[in-house]
Amino acid sequence: MAEPILQVRDLHTHFPVDDGVVRAVDGASFELHVGKTLGIVGESGCGKSMTARSILRILDRPGRIVGGEILLRRQDGSVVDLAKLPADGQAMRAIRGGEIGLVFQEPMSSLSAFHTIGNQLIEGIRLHSDLSRRAARARAIELLAMVGIPRPAQRVDAYSFELSGGLRQRVMIALALAAEPRVLIADEPTTALDVTTQAQILALIRRLQQERELAVILITHDMGVIAEMADDVVVMYLGKEVEKGPVDAIFHAPRHPYTRALLRSIPSVLAEPRARLATISGSIPHPFARPSGCPFHPRCPERLRGPCEATFPPEVVIGEHHATACHLYTTEGAEVPA
Ligand code: SF4
Repeated sequence: MAEPILQVRDLHTHFPVDDGVVRAVDGASFELHVGKTLGIVGESGCGKSMTARSILRILDRPGRIVGGEILLRRQDGSVVDLAKLPADGQAMRAIRGGEIGLVFQEPMSSLSAFHTIGNQLIEGIRLHSDLSRRAARARAIELLAMVGIPRPAQRVDAYSFELSGGLRQRVMIALALAAEPRVLIADEPTTALDVTTQAQILALIRRLQQERELAVILITHDMGVIAEMADDVVVMYLGKEVEKGPVDAIFHAPRHPYTRALLRSIPSVLAEPRARLATISGSIPHPFARPSGCPFHPRCPERLRGPCEATFPPEVVIGEHHATACHLYTTEGAEVPA
């Protein structure tokens, strides 16, 4: 397999606050390849958005990366560790929005209400190129057409509040692609949209990815979105990755009890009418009350008395590119006899 375009190794992101330290990301490691989509999934508060914000170096204070590497392979083959760059330095600003594009859940909070979408696109284009204003405006119209905005030559002068939620998200995607990034990070890009618009936006991301060989990190709490979009999956719980592997393995042979619980919570058209949707018992613990041992043990229906409460399970390989951190498996990846 070709070298990954992005490699995250043992990433730790902490928020030191008055009452203690919130370990928002507590040892995440994964790879992203050109033309592939890596889905990062988990309930809210599991660390997936903080992982994305760490890669982009846009952590709110007092958050900071305290360990690990974020290795970006650049067009010329050189590798830069984003974790070591100053967050507000020129190099990181050129990478953020340049080599790595980003799309967030709520375009209203990311788009300015005071500038036309055209002006925002022109600014984004010129920040990462030496195009004249006139050429950048022509490029902005091309980008709007590319993401499926009807009448782009007129819409370029519209304000974000004049557009529907779906069109605003298309504008966000156009903005993210303005500098022709090689990596796109999409954080819950469809959560605020209705089902039909959600399907259209996912189809758009997939089409653009194929046309541009983009490497995509898709962050979502929705296993249905993962099934539709991802090639590889990382499942996170309380800042830790608990299972990762190719999407087929995760869906057809999930090994971690948390992954299984997430899968059981997907609505199915085959379910009995009025059947109750399975939910995961309990809730994510408070960050200052992390359970001992495996952090999932208070909610885990399969926990083993003793080891699950005492020690965090090491990650073990259980198949090709498939690994999990759970005491149900030996260090060789075999199931522990019941
Ligand atoms: Fe459940 Fe134990 Fe595995 Fe944690 S380590 S998921 S508690 S079986």
